[in-house]
Amino acid sequence: MEHLNPGGLGLSPSSTGVGQEIYSLSERLFPICRSITGDGVRRTLDILSEQVDLERHEVPTGTQVFDWTVPQEWNIRSASITGPDGQTVVDFADSNLHVVNYSMPFKGTLPLDELRRHIHTLPEQPGLIPYRTSYYAPTWGFCVAHDRVAKMPEGLYRVEIDAELKDGCLTYGEYLHRGHTEREFLLSAHICHPSLANDNCSGLALLATLARSLKARKTRYSYRFLFAPGTIGALAWLSRNEDRTYLIDHGLVLSCLGDAGSPAYKRSRRGDAFIDRAMAYVLGGEAGAKLMDFSPYGYDERQYCSPGFNLPVGMFQRSVHGTFPEYHTSADNLDFIRPEHLEDSFRILTEVIDIVEEDWTPLNLFPKGEPQLGKRGLYAALGGQKSSGATSMSLLWVLNLADGQHSLLAMAERSGLPFWELAAAAKLLLDHGLLAAAL
Ligand code: ZN
Repeated sequence: MEHLNPGGLGLSPSSTGVGQEIYSLSERLFPICRSITGDGVRRTLDILSEQVDLERHEVPTGTQVFDWTVPQEWNIRSASITGPDGQTVVDFADSNLHVVNYSMPFKGTLPLDELRRHIHTLPEQPGLIPYRTSYYAPTWGFCVAHDRVAKMPEGLYRVEIDAELKDGCLTYGEYLHRGHTEREFLLSAHICHPSLANDNCSGLALLATLARSLKARKTRYSYRFLFAPGTIGALAWLSRNEDRTYLIDHGLVLSCLGDAGSPAYKRSRRGDAFIDRAMAYVLGGEAGAKLMDFSPYGYDERQYCSPGFNLPVGMFQRSVHGTFPEYHTSADNLDFIRPEHLEDSFRILTEVIDIVEEDWTPLNLFPKGEPQLGKRGLYAALGGQKSSGATSMSLLWVLNLADGQHSLLAMAERSGLPFWELAAAAKLLLDHGLLAAAL
């Protein structure tokens, strides 16, 4: 807990009830059938817009975004499989995972062995419905619990998928919190998954709540919140904003933020960006936290960190995608995420934002020898008086490292002292004319 900002310089670390708020928002997002296009994304943006006024963008089918093309828009009304006895065996109304996301429409009657070729199951997790997509390869299909398929008798099955693929748009939403400078902190979450709570109702709800919480705060950086479909949505945003990506100083992709796993951070492709160091610093105070190097597999950091952009964007999550048994199954439901974990993720993000906001690089104006602290009334602080938040060690470290090459974060890394203790010491020394801000 030593990393908590004791000076209350930033967002309240004890944001009471924020975890429950994020959870309640996740609950509202959960039932919606989202995909990379379609009305599910728009309905989701409607709900998120209650937190902050999102700017909505519609990118028409056929639009070229780098090497990709915006596909036709997909919407689905209903889908079912009816057995030989006339009973409904599978119903989209029970779970939107039941239909392959982006499935083509289909209507017909076919024998079980033929139908099976269009049914995806998880033999290793026979009670769960898998999540499958087919965005760019036209096909139709269902996803069903293995146990249920095993009980289906031979015979003819009536199948109906009332879906629609037609020219339309890809939709994404963004919100910009303007700071003192144009330099940006990009926060991005994918909005394309249907009823999966951790991946990524948790990220969407947390990000919208964070955006709302920043509204009342004057910040140095501008904060851009992006809610876009995975891959194609991030590419659409990048292609429309290519000329301003140079403004992005820090970025995070957010997903899977509500489960009981320890926090995990994947570094940007650069590996040594400020965000990489700030996340490593904050997670250094968290039990069981994981730090991983960049790899070109995961979420939209793959696009932001592609070599043509190479942006300082890392990924923050709890349990690492693809490694927990609930991942991409019907077990990633509202029981899998908890308000306390969402709150913990929110707190970590606010701490990182606090560091991004409050970091600066001091320059010692009396660098030859140690300046005499006693005659400036700083002797008490040096003697260990803590009312300022500065300790003797933090004063000594700041004076020593204030060569214009070390920001407060670098001082924290090198000294092992808490960032906020060093920040308090630097403020005290600045107020007493011993430091200036390095250019
Ligand atoms: Zn996913």
